[in-house]
Amino acid sequence: MIAETLFISDLHLSAARPERTMLFLSFLEGRAFGVERLYILGDLFDAYIGDDDNSSPNHEVKTALRRLVTSGTAVFFQHGNRDFLVGADFYRETGAGRLGDYAVIDLYGKPALVTHGDLLCTDDILYQEARIRVRAEEWKRKALSKPLFVRQWYARWYRFKSGLDKGKKNQVIMDANPQTVIDNVRCNGVSILIHGHTHRPAVHEFGVDGKSACRFVLAEWKETGQVLCWNASGSWVIENIN
Ligand code: MN
Repeated sequence: MIAETLFISDLHLSAARPERTMLFLSFLEGRAFGVERLYILGDLFDAYIGDDDNSSPNHEVKTALRRLVTSGTAVFFQHGNRDFLVGADFYRETGAGRLGDYAVIDLYGKPALVTHGDLLCTDDILYQEARIRVRAEEWKRKALSKPLFVRQWYARWYRFKSGLDKGKKNQVIMDANPQTVIDNVRCNGVSILIHGHTHRPAVHEFGVDGKSACRFVLAEWKETGQVLCWNASGSWVIENIN
């Protein structure tokens, strides 16, 4: 295994984007093959409606992740707002490790905080309220008890609606709140924060209590992908995947 850790997020894979699925599958067989760890920080899927949905691309993606895990790469997955219904069967089938909403990981001697990123957007109060509702065990249990075709219809409606809402919402409230970022860096005792969700790829340097910290915002995958690569000597690079 190569002593290297890769971070990706926001692939938004769906049946409507087969070329993006191909890009991801070739990434798993190519760039990610042989690396020590791969972190997928949420929104791997554009609308995940339950582990029992094995339609394209879910089946291919799960099979390819299993192959990578079997080859020796540790794969970790964190829920995004689009795929928070990823459940126990997904982890069993792929062999991926499950991360909580906030996880502190060891990056070759340095602690780093990883999160999908939606929890950092605390200015979007309506979103945060809705998030609490749909993340309740009772809501998830009820949703997953509906027949697959009902969930598919619901997902289609949701994507349509969230597309409309996005246009209406103020761009500022849809970004990470700077104070929330600082609070999380401080209370987790880290100087590295890695997240996705906002689709505003950047490397932000800032200060917390007189110490410098760094926030890596991962990019959404489109025609090309992007991956943050961290090696054992502590240096990092952002690579394009095509
Ligand atoms: Mn997201």
